[in-house]
Amino acid sequence: MAYDQGARLPGESASKLGHLSVVNSKWVKSLLADFEQAEIKEGELHTVWHPFEDTTTPPLRNIWATDGSYVRVTSSGKPPKEMAFVKTALLTIDRTRLDKIDKDHPHPLLIQDVLRDSAIFHATVFPMKNVRTSLGSNYDAVRHIIHDSLKIDEEGMFFETLKWIAYQKWRADSRQTSPSFECPHCHFKVEGLPFDSDEGTCSDCGNGILLSDMIGFHLDMDEDGAPDSVASAYMLVMEHLMIFTAIRLLWNHTDKSLVSDTLFIKDGPLTLRSQYSKLVPNIRSFLEFAKKQGRPIHVIGQEKSGAFFDHLASFVMQVSPKTKEEPLHFATLSHEYVRKEVYRSPDLANSYGKRTNWGEKVYVKIEPGTALVLNVPTGEYQDDVSFPGKEDLIGISKILATLPKIISHKFEGALFPIELANGIASMSSYPSAKILQRFIDDRRV
Ligand SMILES: [Zn+2]
Repeated sequence: MAYDQGARLPGESASKLGHLSVVNSKWVKSLLADFEQAEIKEGELHTVWHPFEDTTTPPLRNIWATDGSYVRVTSSGKPPKEMAFVKTALLTIDRTRLDKIDKDHPHPLLIQDVLRDSAIFHATVFPMKNVRTSLGSNYDAVRHIIHDSLKIDEEGMFFETLKWIAYQKWRADSRQTSPSFECPHCHFKVEGLPFDSDEGTCSDCGNGILLSDMIGFHLDMDEDGAPDSVASAYMLVMEHLMIFTAIRLLWNHTDKSLVSDTLFIKDGPLTLRSQYSKLVPNIRSFLEFAKKQGRPIHVIGQEKSGAFFDHLASFVMQVSPKTKEEPLHFATLSHEYVRKEVYRSPDLANSYGKRTNWGEKVYVKIEPGTALVLNVPTGEYQDDVSFPGKEDLIGISKILATLPKIISHKFEGALFPIELANGIASMSSYPSAKILQRFIDDRRV
């Protein structure tokens, strides 16, 4: 039973938080006041959303998609040994074959037909804790496993892609050194490996260094063990190397038009954070180069969680299309919009996403109940808070014309190619965590 309101104390029903002095803070007051009314005013929405009414642009014909997963497995012994398994998948689909599939109730045999000879996966295993190899420390084991995994799988196709990005090999006259990086032995800043080399020596300590060290996994590790972030970063880097392997092979194809008639899809944002962002300037540089050559590369990343996903969900009901008759609508988020509306941060001094992102944020509402958060590249970054506009997004018309063809209705806002790639990359389909655990238990490593 609530107390009656006294002369000096506010009634208990006024606020369950009333006894907390922090409620007197004007910041907390404003937070509580805004909590119930987070929706956005109509006017703000209409400035950024545009209908896509172009019915003449043909959808892209080919589709490549990539996705990955990782799992950390602990053995039952003492001390418990820990290993991480990482798996990534890349698959290609001819969109005309995909068109024949009922996206609501896909027939398994038809899916099998689409996937026949069209999917590859990459898997590797890392020692994380209490695992010793006779060759050296855990630290060196992880470094060499990364190098070997890239070099051995698919006859080094993914390693060649790493070199292609690191040395900007799309330029016929490139003599570019690799991006600079920290020596894994003495932490000296190596200026970069000479053009096209797989490995080299540190000019300070003279020890052997690998091109894969340039990516920077060793900066997440210590001598004893590797944290989860090494496995998740490896997955992310591999997803990048896989999708860029497809891009590289099509770029060099004798049919020069093929690469621009393809949609490349990566699950998750087009982002590489912290030390891994070293590859971002080169990726941007390639996309700009391709655009200028008149051979645009159509890439999208799909964000299925996070700040943008939540932001879009908060008002998506209020934007068109609200009926099936209305056309698809999309919104290109400028850096100013991202800062003010999504992050609600006044800090416009630092350039948004310059170092880490190679795609810009785009909201798409295809039909009532189907909306997506996409990342679409622009090529080189521009230091302008009103950047990007819709005309800066590489191949946006072709991308938007293709999206309705590849929407899956199994999950809200899902893309069918990502769903298929996810099925191949997920650990549940191969091998189960139980089998992995037995694998560690049986091995006296
Ligand atoms: Zn060194």
